[in-house]
Amino acid sequence: MINRNRLADLFKFLAEIDSISKEEGRIAKELENILSSLGASVTFDDAGEKVNGEVGNLVARLEGNADVPPILLSGHMDTVKPGKGVKAILKDGVFTSDGTTILGADDKSALAIIIETIRVLTENNLPFGPLEIVFTICEEIGLLGAKNMDFSLITAKSGYILDSTDRDGIVTRSPTAYKFRINIHGKDAHAGAAPEKGVNAISVAAHAISKLEIGRIDHETTCNIGKIQGGMATNVVPSLVTIEGEARSMNPLKVEKVMANVLNTFKETVESFRKNSPDTHLPALDIATELEFPGTDIPDNHPVVKLAQQASKNLGHALKPVTIGGGADANIFFGKGIITGVLCPGMTDPHTVRESVKVDDMVFAVRQLLEIIRIHAKEEDY
Ligand SMILES: [Zn+2]
Repeated sequence: MINRNRLADLFKFLAEIDSISKEEGRIAKELENILSSLGASVTFDDAGEKVNGEVGNLVARLEGNADVPPILLSGHMDTVKPGKGVKAILKDGVFTSDGTTILGADDKSALAIIIETIRVLTENNLPFGPLEIVFTICEEIGLLGAKNMDFSLITAKSGYILDSTDRDGIVTRSPTAYKFRINIHGKDAHAGAAPEKGVNAISVAAHAISKLEIGRIDHETTCNIGKIQGGMATNVVPSLVTIEGEARSMNPLKVEKVMANVLNTFKETVESFRKNSPDTHLPALDIATELEFPGTDIPDNHPVVKLAQQASKNLGHALKPVTIGGGADANIFFGKGIITGVLCPGMTDPHTVRESVKVDDMVFAVRQLLEIIRIHAKEEDY
């Protein structure tokens, strides 16, 4: 039933369409045409305008023929760089790029798998309930598509995203992440002629950072200073430095504690420097913090997990719930009350020029989805 060559051809076709983040217009058009030809109603939300991209998130719906709750199936249309001029080369059943670009199996394998699944369902008149297909934009640049999604277009309360690298796992837990950007304002002065008239912003930043706990804080919590910028010249006391970083934890309370500690440390350091400052209101600081994504925490006995496990078991494959340290569209969906387990579309080494995907693994993912959909439509126990 699964047409292996058709699946491989579609993957190659999609992989070779340039679609780095914000430039998903062409691939979105092709996907709209394919999904429409399969009987889906296809719309785009206004996320594209909000992020200044070519197109919004694609939301498609197939009614199916079984009266059961809808399932959401999702992947993202954008890729990281270098992602232009991809040549998807198939050798011995494995797709790679020519080594100068990424392949874009992250996440075009998901798109091809979902479409092949729909083709098999429709051309064989198999039982299936309503399917809501969400192909997002800008996942790779901070989940911007999902963050700007028009959730009124989605009725499904649960489903699956195909965007992980662990074939034996379903991602059910991931951290809450915050990011911060701190500007420390000092005062410029000639470094040789009158340094005492200046307030050295870099020195203040260095003192504050040296007091912070950076790296792995405990088994489920991390903190990072990732970027620092400031200063004009070696002979000028720097008047501005910008520090950017993040904190993550599987435990939302812990990440909030880490964030509070970071901000307090900077505040206290600035205060202490003011005591010996030529200017009583300097150094000063301004702080911007942002919830980058909420965590996910799907219980092991949640139907989304049990259904995928039963489907995999029926295919002779054990699937275990796994925890990851990164965020994905699933985090945003979870925050909106849509519970999505993340499955593997077969990709390996994403975000590198060595990225690859086996056709066999894509075929397996189609079988997995078909079995999930079959069990759900037949309302079999799991
Ligand atoms: Zn991805």
